[in-house]
Amino acid sequence: MADLAAEQEADSGPLPVVAVVGRPNVGKSTLVNRIIGRREAVVEDVPGVTRDRVTYEATWRGRRFTVVDTGGWDPEATGMAQRIAEQAQVAVELADVILFVTDVTVGITDADEAVARVLRRAGKPVVLAANKVDDQRAELEAGALWALGIGTPHPVSALHGRSSGDLLDLILDALPEAPEQRFGPERGPRRIALVGKPNVGKSSLLNKLAGEERALVDPMAGTTRDPVDELVELGGKTWRFIDTAGIRRRDRELQGADFYASLRTRAALERSEVAVVLIDASDPLTEQDLRIISLVVETGRCVVVAFNKWDLVDEDRRYYLEKEIDRQLVRIPWALRVNISAKTGRHVDRLVPAIERALDSWATRVPTSRLNAFLTELIQATPPPVRGGKQPKILFATQASVEPPKFVLFTSGFLEDTYRRFIERRLREEFGFAGSPVEISMKIRE
Ligand code: GDP
Ligand code: GDP
Repeated sequence: MADLAAEQEADSGPLPVVAVVGRPNVGKSTLVNRIIGRREAVVEDVPGVTRDRVTYEATWRGRRFTVVDTGGWDPEATGMAQRIAEQAQVAVELADVILFVTDVTVGITDADEAVARVLRRAGKPVVLAANKVDDQRAELEAGALWALGIGTPHPVSALHGRSSGDLLDLILDALPEAPEQRFGPERGPRRIALVGKPNVGKSSLLNKLAGEERALVDPMAGTTRDPVDELVELGGKTWRFIDTAGIRRRDRELQGADFYASLRTRAALERSEVAVVLIDASDPLTEQDLRIISLVVETGRCVVVAFNKWDLVDEDRRYYLEKEIDRQLVRIPWALRVNISAKTGRHVDRLVPAIERALDSWATRVPTSRLNAFLTELIQATPPPVRGGKQPKILFATQASVEPPKFVLFTSGFLEDTYRRFIERRLREEFGFAGSPVEISMKIRE
């Protein structure tokens, strides 16, 4: 069971975030592939093709962290240096450590300098990679990158893997020991990510919750001094709303705004504990709503879905909405739901109780003895389906972690997905977990 304890430790809480920045073609994706040890961050032949997937999980010397590749934007866009500075700004906000990638075969460009300016002001640890140093000779050229004022350039070849281990060591050294107020009794205000597609009513809701007078706060876009989060008092408690600067900033008209929006959403989720997903109840559900829900599911946060603009929902619309929910929100049937209007204030007071309930579920720990007693009974009543002539047995079960709750079943054979879903359903009936994802994995003992 020793390794289970280690797993439990490693599983708890959000991972530290390393953001990779740099202009197009310096080798960011190639380097990300090195770091995650897979060929997942596909290097595109078509330059600047927006990649949907931007975050990856990596492990180095037993330490897990999230890598965010901020590279998916259009290099042909006008005002490249400006755009890349914005990209660096997003990276600064979301990351614990920034990996700044440059190309020694090209040297310092305007775009590199724009990035360096943002990073110098940010006060976050930066590791400067001098990429495309494929051989010893090229190492000398890396010296020129001192001029960026970011510190030591570290020669590396993403393509050949040269010195990439050393680079990872440096990144690891720069990662924070215990990420900011993440766990423990002194965890600070609980952290809420308010997410949803543009125009769904995020800033209206925030204004409603935070008080109208604060609606006037309109921080200047693109400055490093933006207040990123906002502390809001609700129901006698202080809550931290993540990346309200991003919610309030009107950067939607920007080219590539979709990409930034999804990067920001992802980053906000990484830093949050609970996601409040806003959906426009007055309009049909869209692809974008579902994409955001997928992001939420991927990050394992607990969830409250707020159907906003309820003041615009009539009988007819209501009928179709319920159908859409049944058909399309299949990934989060367990999510808590409130029907609100950020405009009129309808039922906005129901948000906090729902959030608290979701957070409770997310932190629920089922004692091992109770879990096993419950499973023994369940299996007796409904044994797992026979597979290949054998009846798989569940030997033992334990809850490996909370936030989100993860269960591990030690079995003598493979359990069908349907049976695992059945177990999840029964677990939920027995122990609650409303508003929280629940993960069930299997360890097969032959
Ligand atoms: P990104 O746009 O920054 O993500 O850059 P990519 O990872 O797509 O790489 C751009 C090009 O540079 C590709 O053709 C890569 O094969 C090449 N490249 C990346 N790293 C190296 C390297 O270390 N040495 C050399 N010679 N080429 C590299
Ligand atoms: P954001 O892009 O998600 O921050 O959305 P906004 O808060 O800027 O809202 C977009 C538009 O929807 C604005 O015109 C709001 O006045 C409107 N809106 C927001 N919430 C509601 C609501 O509950 N009911 C109605 N009728 N309109 C709303």
